Amino acid sequence: MMAAGDESLSCPYCRTALLVAEATTCPACRGGLFDAAGGRLTQERAALLFATAAVEEARNRLVEDGLRWAVGVGAVVTLAPWLTPLALPIATVAQAVSIRWWMVAPARRVFQPTRRMLARWTLRVGYVLGLSFAGPWMAAPFLSLVATPAWHVALVTAEASYLRWQLDRESSGTGLHDAERVGLGCMVALLVGVLVLLMMAAGVMGWLAQKA
Ligand SMILES: [Zn+2]
Repeated sequence: MMAAGDESLSCPYCRTALLVAEATTCPACRGGLFDAAGGRLTQERAALLFATAAVEEARNRLVEDGLRWAVGVGAVVTLAPWLTPLALPIATVAQAVSIRWWMVAPARRVFQPTRRMLARWTLRVGYVLGLSFAGPWMAAPFLSLVATPAWHVALVTAEASYLRWQLDRESSGTGLHDAERVGLGCMVALLVGVLVLLMMAAGVMGWLAQKA
């Protein structure tokens, strides 16, 4: 008997109805229908596998394609420093948007709401923190040739590892770790510290400029 909407008889990826219950791959999207243990994939499990594969693929592509761009930006900063105030922000925004679109979004879609929220803020604060350290190096001629590609690869790799870790925890049904909240708190504190230092430095420079 075939119950209407029976999950076991439709593809967990694209929901195409499966006419042959023993088929191992979906005829429409070619997605595998069984897990390594031989169990039929549920929609949830398939979504997690799909997201994990998407993060992996995006990481490789972002590192590969992004590296060329990062080297280019380093060259612009070195050869045409007057273009730095234009080139660096544009490259940074393009980088953030493409990482978010290609790599973060597929993973975030399958997270439970609390994990989604925590992951969003961890990635955000981590990004701003990393950028505030990498930024000055990327803006310096010659140093930029190394710092810009290094920052790009480090950012993509770190975010991919973090997403992978969260996806593994999501698929094994592991909740949030207490240390995750503490870690986020520490990162926010560090970020506030960096901002205070920057403001103090700006204040000192203003004072010195007045004295001169
Ligand atoms: Zn399918």
